[in-house]
Amino acid sequence: MLEIDGQAGGGQLLRTALALSLCTGESFRMERIRAKRSRPGLMRQHLTAVQAARDVGSAHVEGAEPGSTTLVFVPGQVRGGAFHWPIGTAGSTTLVLQTVLPALWHAGVSAQLVLEGGTHNPLAPSADFLAESFLPLMHRMGLSAELVLERHGFYPAGGGQIRLDVGESEQPKIMHLADRGDIQQLSVTSLVSRIPGRVGEREIDAVVRRLPIAPEHCHIRQATTSPGPGNALSVRVQAEHVCEVFTAYGERGVTAERVGEIVSREALAYLGSGAAVGPYLADQLLLPMALAGAGSFTTQQPSDHAKSNAVLIEKFLPVQFDFDEIGKDFWRVSVSS
Ligand code: ATP
Repeated sequence: MLEIDGQAGGGQLLRTALALSLCTGESFRMERIRAKRSRPGLMRQHLTAVQAARDVGSAHVEGAEPGSTTLVFVPGQVRGGAFHWPIGTAGSTTLVLQTVLPALWHAGVSAQLVLEGGTHNPLAPSADFLAESFLPLMHRMGLSAELVLERHGFYPAGGGQIRLDVGESEQPKIMHLADRGDIQQLSVTSLVSRIPGRVGEREIDAVVRRLPIAPEHCHIRQATTSPGPGNALSVRVQAEHVCEVFTAYGERGVTAERVGEIVSREALAYLGSGAAVGPYLADQLLLPMALAGAGSFTTQQPSDHAKSNAVLIEKFLPVQFDFDEIGKDFWRVSVSS
């Protein structure tokens, strides 16, 4: 049984450990889960991730209670089929999804997953990021899966729903992403639910002052099925080899202009760096590339997440990560067996 110290990171370490335990059949005990967070231990979204991993992997679990800082996970046989996981709060559905997706892919089984909770959460991949940025790259690596956003869910009301249909996939294939290729299109979308006034227009004005986005690629989308209010502003960079999606969230006390500025700054930093992928996509690529046994990409300054995640992945799989700084805000990350 692998002994893992959870205080090296946050929920990401737990999700990576669950995902790789299911893929390798290796049990683990994680102590000091999220120890350095303001509310340490397992929260709703993490508990649902554990529940999802248990269901998919017929696992034996100890310590899966709210606030628990220790978890023991003993995986069994991974199985496909239909699963439904309501988080019960606005916790991120996409993060729960990413806990079980690698195992279903690796086992080559088909599954229909329905998750309820938040679909557009700060500090997590949005459902649009998953569908437009992450999944197309995974398709290239052999995954057969389609995401459907059935209902938007924002913090704090939640109530969103996503569905992922996973087909019997080829084993993860090696991918190298040295550059993004030519930029084909820049676009911006303001997603609004039950927000009064001209918030969407003002956000988009703030973005087009900073980024060369043509009027026909500026969109305001009403999230009419969302049970609660919410607002997400996304800039999409479609390049030849990669699509990147940057998102900022409207919230009380933050002006629409400021939200536009935040997302523009992220997109400009990415565009200026010349890297193939941004820091969030970099976080998400480590695990599938490690499952493939090799791969590489260029990216901006890697996050602490990426580094602590890489160390954990090396515990489960016979791979090694290298993070090489090549230039200003320009890194090459590679994994080899
Ligand atoms: P904790 O509260 O312990 O930090 P958590 O479960 O909320 O845990 P994190 O450990 O912070 O999660 O992990 C969040 C994940 O979401 C990371 O993989 C990160 O790359 C991803 N992420 C955060 N913001 C974005 C974003 N704007 N777009 C895409 N992905 C994002």
